[in-house]
Amino acid sequence: MGLTMDLGDAAFGKRITVLGSTGSVGCSTLDLVARARDSIGVEAFPIEALTAHSNVAELISQARTFKPQLAVIGEPALLDDLREGLAGTGIKAAGGPSALIEAAQRPADWVMAAIVGAAGLAPTYAAIERGAQVALANKECLVCAGELVMALARRSGATLLPADSEHNAIFQVLEQANRDAIEKIILTASGGPFLNMSLDDMAHVTPAQAVAHPNWSMGEKISVDSATMMNKGLEVIEAHYLFGFGADEIEVLIHPQSVVHSMVAYRDGSVLAQLGSPDMRTPIAHTLAWPGRMDAPSERLDLAERGALTFESPDETRFPALRLARNSLQIGRGAPTILNAANEAAVTAFLGGRIGFLDIPRVVEGALDRMNNGRGVADLNALEDVFALDSQAREQAKQLMSA
Ligand code: NAD
Ligand code: MG
Repeated sequence: MGLTMDLGDAAFGKRITVLGSTGSVGCSTLDLVARARDSIGVEAFPIEALTAHSNVAELISQARTFKPQLAVIGEPALLDDLREGLAGTGIKAAGGPSALIEAAQRPADWVMAAIVGAAGLAPTYAAIERGAQVALANKECLVCAGELVMALARRSGATLLPADSEHNAIFQVLEQANRDAIEKIILTASGGPFLNMSLDDMAHVTPAQAVAHPNWSMGEKISVDSATMMNKGLEVIEAHYLFGFGADEIEVLIHPQSVVHSMVAYRDGSVLAQLGSPDMRTPIAHTLAWPGRMDAPSERLDLAERGALTFESPDETRFPALRLARNSLQIGRGAPTILNAANEAAVTAFLGGRIGFLDIPRVVEGALDRMNNGRGVADLNALEDVFALDSQAREQAKQLMSA
């Protein structure tokens, strides 16, 4: 990196909003912004809005540093604290679910959608609705409402930029002009902390063990999803909606080093891959500077020092979440929405010590069974339909967990 950070023409001066700014992806995004501002000045990335759920202290500190027009706390009871913390700064403070949507509606060129779970759907949807560039980390919104979200993006002309590392890799190596010459896409998976653990041992793992990911530092929910491999299942569904491939054209490959982030296989036998060290600032920078490139501080890949890169097939007996997600995608209808909601409920219960690790896929499968895999669900024509199905699935999961 030279004395001045190079943002490329496309990134410089982009007005941005970060939904979920206090989370792992949100902080990585603001790290890139801070470096650009240190090097170039505040005009590098003016900030429209920052949002958080309940970490009001961190949100206040971020707002004081980055000076957005608006700071939103999702938990309405914390709005007074936010107001007090921002008194005299001229930054507008707001709270509650409707304020999250307002944040997304404000005129930013680029919005990072990094709220975790279906809670991110409504604000992400609002950003897409006004035709913004939307960097999508919040995969759950595509899993629970993929058709609605993609149809909205087509109507509004929004640009969806995949920020999830695997999907960003595919986005980088997928030749749009040769779309018909693609045989399959290959999503790599680290395998998580329990890759080689027996089912007997997995039955007793603690939340602390499950969130200790070997390669990536991430929020708790996605870390547990990585340990069950539900994360990869959700990503298969995410890839389907983003890139239009069927379940049988999306392969999952275990790659414990997390260096090859994903691949696209073409008809002539070529396989194109994107590589990098496991640091979300690389895919985030790609979406921020798109269609250009910008400097990012991620550790440079030293393949000689890394030595071997290894690959193996996933074991769907020990990691049934992968099979459940693939089945849900094949069934379609309401199945992915139910899968996602039941998983969110089960992961929350696991993190709270109320169910065991292996109960997570059991609860998801049980909720899918009880709801006939969403086969009878009428079309999900509006967000309200998604939210209704999502709450039914959470209720079924709750009943299963208290039985
Ligand atoms: P995190 O838990 O670290 O952060 C979540 C953010 O969302 C926080 O800012 C939190 O305040 C906010 N939030 C949580 N619940 C909310 C609610 N009900 N209403 C409003 N805001 C709420 O999560 P993360 O690891 O940063 O992941 C965010 C999203 O990005 C997830 O969908 C995850 O799957 C995806 N993702 C994360 C990574 C990663 O490396 N962390 C990689 C790829 C994709
Ligand atoms: Mg990923």
